[in-house]
Amino acid sequence: MTLSKLEIQQMLREMNVKFDADETHEELKQRLQKENHSLWLKSVSGSQADDGRDGRIRVRKRKRSVDPPEPLEKRFPERIATAEKSARLPVPPRNNTGTALRARTVEKPEPGKPWKTVADGTQPFNRKKNVFKSVLRRCGMCCEACGKPADKADPSTELRPFYIDPLSQGGEHSVKNMVALCPACCERLENDPSPKLIKELRRKTRSKLYDSLQVIRKTTVRSRGPFPGRRK
Ligand SMILES: [Zn+2]
Repeated sequence: MTLSKLEIQQMLREMNVKFDADETHEELKQRLQKENHSLWLKSVSGSQADDGRDGRIRVRKRKRSVDPPEPLEKRFPERIATAEKSARLPVPPRNNTGTALRARTVEKPEPGKPWKTVADGTQPFNRKKNVFKSVLRRCGMCCEACGKPADKADPSTELRPFYIDPLSQGGEHSVKNMVALCPACCERLENDPSPKLIKELRRKTRSKLYDSLQVIRKTTVRSRGPFPGRRK
């Protein structure tokens, strides 16, 4: 391939290479070759630097001009101080028995004495939620003093739990110590606890006929047959 003098001059001009106007065709050719060679060298050396030896394409990592982070002590002095403080504190002993997760057991006081109160203000009584439900089942949604049925639609007739022996006087939270009363009876008993009525209520809750489990016992007996004792 041969290039004319004008073409070479044009190429050199495009490559930003200076040349004299009076140079001959040969001189211009040599100059072009030299320029091409230097370009080739540049590209080769540049590619070597970029691609490395194996020629794989590497993702150029951006240089991090950020200063290395300061040590934590300098950045969060107060946090470090509190952490050291807490680390120095004696570790409270863990009881491995797992009692911490269980419900707190409350010791029953002597009869006639109040339940222990707890300093943190939580309920000192180990109350079970189901007790009042059982009482309601027992009474059949009727007041246990006057026998008036509670109206579900009317919240003013809603039955309330009433302790025969008050918890503050050592009464226990159980089906036997709790009755469901209509609001009127409840107020009457709270204001004026007549011993006769209290005795009557206690007798009712203690009686076997009033036992909520009685219903279940009866059905199991019936299922065995009319005369379970005489079989065999
Ligand atoms: Zn009543």
